Amino acid sequence: MATFHGPARLSEDEARAMIEGIRWPNGPECPHCASDNAVRLEGRATRPGVLKCRDCGKQFTVTVNTIMHRSKIPLSKWLIAFHLMCSSKKGISALRLQRELGLGSYQTAWHMERRIRYAMTAGGLGRNFAGGHETVTHSAGEYVRGDVSTDPVVGLV
Ligand SMILES: [Zn+2]
Repeated sequence: MATFHGPARLSEDEARAMIEGIRWPNGPECPHCASDNAVRLEGRATRPGVLKCRDCGKQFTVTVNTIMHRSKIPLSKWLIAFHLMCSSKKGISALRLQRELGLGSYQTAWHMERRIRYAMTAGGLGRNFAGGHETVTHSAGEYVRGDVSTDPVVGLV
């Protein structure tokens, strides 16, 4: 598994590969049916990172059912945000996150921060991204509404 150095220099492909390695240490697993029989779709018409399950036939990427699902924020920026938040004991402010990541709006940074805090409480993320750092504990209910289940790596929102 890749170690966590210099997230600022990661390309989107590298960032995706890193997240895949963390979420799927034993190879891709279909988030729809949990099959490990998936094939990577490649070709110009395909979005990068798309896989297709050979069992249920559905397509997926590593971000399905994670806090990054359907996010327009580049994965490399998510990784930087994880790193910043996991390596700081007190966490960092949304304002600082906005500045560090060059995000267009404070609200985007605020939402990102909220999701990451939730994922940290759901387990896995802090440990995986910060190599055994203790993560700040928050009440998950504070950040999430509706039905919630958790993923071993990154909590669902
Ligand atoms: Zn499947």
